[in-house]
Amino acid sequence: MSQTIQAIRGMNDILPDEALQLEQFDDLVRDWLRAYAYRPIRLPVVEPTPLFARAIGTATDIVEKEMYSFIDSLNGEQLTLRPEGTAGCVRAVLQHNLLYDGPKRLYYQGPMFRHERPQKGRYRQFHQVGVEALGFAGPDIDAEHILMCQRLWDDLGLTDIRLEINSLGQVEERSRHRADLVAYLEEHAEMLDADARRRLHSNPLRILDTKNPALQEIVEAAPKLIGYLGEESLAHFAGVQALLKDAGIPYRINPRLVRGLDYYNLTVFEWVTDRLGSQGTVCAGGRYDGLIAQLGGKPQPACGFAIGIERLLALWREQGGVAAGIAPDVYVVHQGEQAQRFAFRVAEGLRDAGFSVQLHCGGGSFKAQMKRADASGAMLAAIIGADEAAANEVSLKPLRDGFGKEQEQQRVAFDQLAEAIGELLFHGEDEHGGL
Ligand code: ATP
Ligand code: MG
Repeated sequence: MSQTIQAIRGMNDILPDEALQLEQFDDLVRDWLRAYAYRPIRLPVVEPTPLFARAIGTATDIVEKEMYSFIDSLNGEQLTLRPEGTAGCVRAVLQHNLLYDGPKRLYYQGPMFRHERPQKGRYRQFHQVGVEALGFAGPDIDAEHILMCQRLWDDLGLTDIRLEINSLGQVEERSRHRADLVAYLEEHAEMLDADARRRLHSNPLRILDTKNPALQEIVEAAPKLIGYLGEESLAHFAGVQALLKDAGIPYRINPRLVRGLDYYNLTVFEWVTDRLGSQGTVCAGGRYDGLIAQLGGKPQPACGFAIGIERLLALWREQGGVAAGIAPDVYVVHQGEQAQRFAFRVAEGLRDAGFSVQLHCGGGSFKAQMKRADASGAMLAAIIGADEAAANEVSLKPLRDGFGKEQEQQRVAFDQLAEAIGELLFHGEDEHGGL
């Protein structure tokens, strides 16, 4: 016997219960982004590999070791499954000259791919909601992004999630800091781990981000970037903070919050929770004023953030989020050829009237069909036998406590069916039209 084929490690099926929760989340996300007047953009899952090398940087974890890259066997092109969305979004904005008439607020969502060691909260295919604001320079839009996040957490009823912010200043400020940082780390070279030693010259800022407990003390005492910021950078940072204070959003300045690349600047932020173990960063964002030029566009400021959907949904579940509205309103059972044809008309008619209807398919005795009706979670069974079909009527049987189960089965004419069902489901509230 041949073995069944399994999904790729770290690339998970999302089964109906979770997929329903995801749909509910998608609805919420759409309304949330509309409330801030962000517009959707949909981007390919595969991009030319050089895009990521240029946009993310060759000295990053992502480009060094996490990308699913391959050669298109038909034309020899170097391709990569997108590990994040910003690069593709900026590429599309440049390719279609979207900034010609002013700045743009955009969002996208979908799967991202990184070849990491799978564990709780870390997968090889995962999902992000990404938000990008292109062509905006001021601290106002940075603050808007943070306020947006806070609103989404509030909409989801999330409480244990805290904001950390920092400023990376500008390139010149960072290079003075970098020189002092490298000198400091070289002094302690014998205490660094292999990873840190490797990064000492390629990407020393990332050492500050290390998760190795043995390095915490050294890193804690390292020169802090914020001490190197000039007046303008400090004013931008102060501007963001003033707007956060106005909005009543608490935050902590974390001097070790960094991004290792030159085109990241000024504001960086992360939303972190302690409820998810070591994969606690739910959302990360900040400014990347240098990226558009890095990808060949006319220099324009920009900033954005990405939410890790698996982590956010795990937190939502942890805090009581549940998928609602899974069961149909009506389950239609029927027997005989005439009854089946009538059942199709009834089911379509009820859908026209706005009800969710599961039509029994596959035959079987009334008893077996009623078992299915009960298991579906439907509020009502609409029963159609040869009798009903001949009379253009349907027998309605309430299936749930509190929704008329105590009531008798009743026979209702086809043209009064929607009204009768509305009566039973909403106790007379007029929500659905007649058939
Ligand atoms: P980490 O330090 O956890 O590896 P990162 O800095 O690589 O995170 P970003 O590139 O900033 O993450 O991505 C934004 C968000 O996407 C993260 O904060 C996280 O919520 C989510 N995320 C990133 N990688 C994964 C993954 N492999 N599986 C699930 N979620 C992820
Ligand atoms: Mg990572």
